[in-house]
Amino acid sequence: MEKQYDVWVAGAGYAGAVAARALAEKGKKVLVLERRDHIGGNAYDCLDEYGVLIHKYGPHIFHTNDKKVFDFLSRFTQWRDYQHRVVANIPDGSGKPNWRLQYPVPFNLTSLEEAFGQEEGKKLGDKLIAAYGAEKKVTILELRQNPDPEISALADYVYEHVFVHYTMKQWGQRPEDIDPNTTARVPVFLSRDDRYFQDTYQGMPLEGYTRMFENMLDHSNIQVRLGVDARPVLKEATGPVIYTGQVDELFDFQFGPLPYRTLDFKFETWLDRNYDAPGMPYPDPDHPLRGGGFFQTHGTVNYTVDEDFTRITEFKHLTGQDLPGVTTIVREYSKAYTGAEDEIPYYAIINPENNALYAKYKAEADKYPNLYLLGRLAEYKYYNMDAIAARALDLAARL
Ligand code: FAD
Ligand code: UDP
Repeated sequence: MEKQYDVWVAGAGYAGAVAARALAEKGKKVLVLERRDHIGGNAYDCLDEYGVLIHKYGPHIFHTNDKKVFDFLSRFTQWRDYQHRVVANIPDGSGKPNWRLQYPVPFNLTSLEEAFGQEEGKKLGDKLIAAYGAEKKVTILELRQNPDPEISALADYVYEHVFVHYTMKQWGQRPEDIDPNTTARVPVFLSRDDRYFQDTYQGMPLEGYTRMFENMLDHSNIQVRLGVDARPVLKEATGPVIYTGQVDELFDFQFGPLPYRTLDFKFETWLDRNYDAPGMPYPDPDHPLRGGGFFQTHGTVNYTVDEDFTRITEFKHLTGQDLPGVTTIVREYSKAYTGAEDEIPYYAIINPENNALYAKYKAEADKYPNLYLLGRLAEYKYYNMDAIAARALDLAARL
């Protein structure tokens, strides 16, 4: 029965769905097998029991400079114009409980003034601009190399207040011990632009990611089967197979498991005092929901110094959903992935040793000329959504 297909795809996330659609449009009959009971992979979103649109596997904000990817996805969704802004939330130094300071991350010229006062902040900002140039992005590791004592003291401040504790929580390692490309994602930015991303195209799918994936996979040449582990089925495949799951699992962990970080997501729903829903948690009187029923000022607030979680995201900021009385937030707790059934491997841990282990699996995969590894898990890389979509379009063009 599987013989009626031209291409087999394991996984219905960005990698699988974009490749399937691009191939279907070239006339290929594509079978998509997805182990979960839904499409969209980690970008999946859905309404929670209070009607709030949430991202089940953590907050996803779309941003890209790749026009081809943006144009492709725009065929399946309209976009809500959303520019992500993040603040670091830290104790203000007064020693009083709950007295907190917030400033933009990436740490920028505004953050400098919030942290050091307007005059001193401006002076330091001018000095940084003289050293690196206006509107430049400087990684924290690079900034720490600067021999000027004032810049070096500032670098220490940013390292201590923005990077070291957050990175320890997220990776269990210090910034200098992880792949430098990871902290380089959030450089110090010598600008007043307080957006998290500077990409040309940014936004949220107007009706959510899942709807976008539904539209993408809605093609007469595509069949999607949910709740199916692709691995046994792929043995029957007679043509190209695109595999977007874990490569170590595909080969029965024969060289040992690849290390990953996983996350625990703690969702919490808050209601306005006037909202009439018995049995629901009411806001702490010292921390009422803000005007319009918001929990926090920004889409994402990073806890860069204290707390066990890394960040809190409030979905209504991202999605623009109009629900005045109710809001849902999520806290992210990072830990080592153990392979337990209820865990999901979210982040590859990029380092020379793990890359070498991955290379063994890749060499194994290369023995199968019809097998194509694609995606964040299969390629063991830290890819954003747009990068995966671009790779999927490239692969489909090559096949
Ligand atoms: P996935 O989304 O993981 O999809 C793989 C699919 O394959 C899954 O559905 C899985 O169930 C399925 N599968 C695996 N094995 C099998 C099997 N044997 N049989 C059948 N199915 C199988 N990127 C951004 O651009 N912006 C963001 O804001 C952003 N935020 C993120 C936040 C978090 C917390 C995380 C973890 C990632 C974030 N990303 C973000 C990255 C984004 O999630 C990935 O780039 C994207 O989901 C990768 O798509 P993928 O198809 O490679 O993998
Ligand atoms: N990071 C940090 N403090 C922050 C934000 C980021 O130390 O306030 C570091 C941390 O190591 C993190 C990395 O930069 O893992 C990349 O951050 P990003 O927000 O891109 O992570 P993601 O959204 O992919 O989890």
